[in-house]
Formats: sequence, C-alpha cells, structure tokens
Amino acid sequence: MGAEAGWDHAADAVVVGSGNGALTAALCCHEMGLPDVVVLEKSGQYGGTSSISGGRVWIPNNHLAAEAGASDSLQDARAYLRAALPRTSRPGASRPTCARRRA
Ligand SMILES: Cc1cc2nc3c(=O)[nH]c(=O)nc-3n(C[C@H](O)[C@H](O)[C@H](O)COP(=O)(O)OP(=O)(O)OC[C@H]3O[C@@H](n4cnc5c(N)ncnc54)[C@H](O)[C@@H]3O)c2cc1C
Repeated sequence: MGAEAGWDHAADAVVVGSGNGALTAALCCHEMGLPDVVVLEKSGQYGGTSSISGGRVWIPNNHLAAEAGASDSLQDARAYLRAALPRTSRPGASRPTCARRRA
C-alpha cells in the first residue's frame, strides 16, 4: 500500500520510541538494507530514559566480563537489584530475574 491507498507515508520499517532499544532496532533495520526506516517518538524529545541513563549497559554475570577476568555472580546481581529496586526487596515479593545466558 502506498499514497494511493490514502497513507501519508509508506516505510520499510516503523520503530516506535527513540530510546536505546528502538534506535538500535532502527539502525539494525537500516544495516540490513531497509532504505526507509521511520522512528516515531511520542514525547517532545528523542532519547527516552536512555538519554538520562548512565550510558553503560549492565549485563550482570556475563561471559565476556568473566573471560576478561572480572569477578561477578548472580548472587551479587540479586543483592544489587534488591538494594536498588525497593519493590523487589519487600518480603514476599518475587525474586529479581537473573539468568546466565550466552549471547
Ligand atoms: C537515572 C538513570 C540511570 C540509568 N543508568 C543506567 C546505566 O548506567 N546502565 C544501564 O544499563 N541502564 C541504566 N538505566 C536504565 C536504562 O536507562 C533503561 O533501562 C533503558 O534506557 C531503557 O531503554 P528503552 O529503549 O527500553 O526505553 P526508553 O529509553 O525509555 O525509550 C522508550 C521511548 O519510547 C517512547 N514511547 C513509549 N511509548 C510510545 C508510543 N506509544 N509511541 C511513541 N513513542 C513511545 C518514550 O517516550 C521513550 O522515548 C538508568 C535509568 C535511569 C532512570
């Protein structure tokens, strides 16, 4: 479908949001050869929570850090999440999810 069907714009991919997740998806679409990728952002500025974050990606207990000699564990990650996320630290709340997966 294109303009003849009454659309304002036709695109190969439409990405909703403009945080790290959405912009990564948009870049991947472009890298995969889609020439027309549209990013839709509902707020007045791009970036979402990503734009005010620390900017480093935290992947607890990941295999790359382990191979580089860093010491980390699921227990440490759980302890950090319990301290940082008040809801999950309440008695009876479900445990934070930390599973070790290979990318
Ligand atoms: C102060 C702070 C520091 C942080 N530091 C770190 C850190 O150091 N390391 C780390 O790994 N994580 C950190 N985080 C967490 C991290 O920022 C978020 O997990 C991450 O940015 C989420 O990215 P996202 O792409 O999923 O969503 P966001 O970056 O929140 O992007 C979502 C976007 O989608 C838009 N949107 C939503 N609904 C619609 C819609 N219907 N239509 C159009 N647009 C829509 C929103 O307006 C927003 O712009 C931090 C968070 C905060 C608040």
